[in-house]
Amino acid sequence: MLMPNLIIYWKPAIEIAILWYLIYRVMLFFEGTRALQALRGIIVLLFAFLIFQKFDFRVLSWLLQKLFGISVIGILIIFHPEIRMGLAQLGKRQLFRNNLKEEDIILYSRQITRACESLARNKLGALIAIEKGDSLAAYIKSGVTVDARICADLIEAIFTPNNPLHDGGLIISRGRIASAGCIFPLAASEELSRVFGTRHRAALGLSEESDAILVIVSEERRDISVIYQKKFYKDLGLPELEVKIKELLKAKDNG
Ligand code: ATP
Ligand code: MG
Repeated sequence: MLMPNLIIYWKPAIEIAILWYLIYRVMLFFEGTRALQALRGIIVLLFAFLIFQKFDFRVLSWLLQKLFGISVIGILIIFHPEIRMGLAQLGKRQLFRNNLKEEDIILYSRQITRACESLARNKLGALIAIEKGDSLAAYIKSGVTVDARICADLIEAIFTPNNPLHDGGLIISRGRIASAGCIFPLAASEELSRVFGTRHRAALGLSEESDAILVIVSEERRDISVIYQKKFYKDLGLPELEVKIKELLKAKDNG
């Protein structure tokens, strides 16, 4: 008797498992973004719809069915930046990850630290994104192409006021200063203390969207912070900063 029962149930069991896994992955994908709240709402509606259908509540199922039709268009419009980023993320994983040579790692960390030291001393703000596995091509395009060798003096010059590129973020990609004056997405997160303004929010925002390492020099407080995978390393001293950049460049991302 047991065997036929097993045969009846194995298909739905696998279907439920796959569905559960897909929902879990999608939620993970949107974690920390405003799309997650909407997603939760949709999942609740979906369950309500299935229950109404199961018990044959015709009017309620009909109503929810219509609501779904409308909400699909609404979601596409409201969340178009998130959907675009999400789809882009699916395709942008680079083939070779963490393939930086030791000497590149030393170059990145030393030059960036030197630039930050000088910027902080002169009370100048800066925002630097170092690309890792996830491509920052979309953000590189939002700024002005620099395509120059990584060099502390150049980074410092870029962030010096009156320079047309000092506003916005600088992106380091594939061993070059790819572009400057880039616009990063602002983090919607409420957690970020009021002390932090848009520069820090933009850094956190990009870290929510990618595995880039963000280095921020605060103009107001002269301190230097690093953000990686939404984690804040605040008020780093210069030796700590250099070590942190090296460590994060070597870190395998867990996204
Ligand atoms: P600070 O501690 O340096 O004052 P903050 O976190 O308080 O930084 P603001 O004072 O608002 O932030 O910094 C403003 C600067 O942040 C802008 O001049 C600009 O260079 C940069 N910035 C603001 N928004 C963005 C963005 N979306 N992408 C990149 N850079 C940005
Ligand atoms: Mg400020």
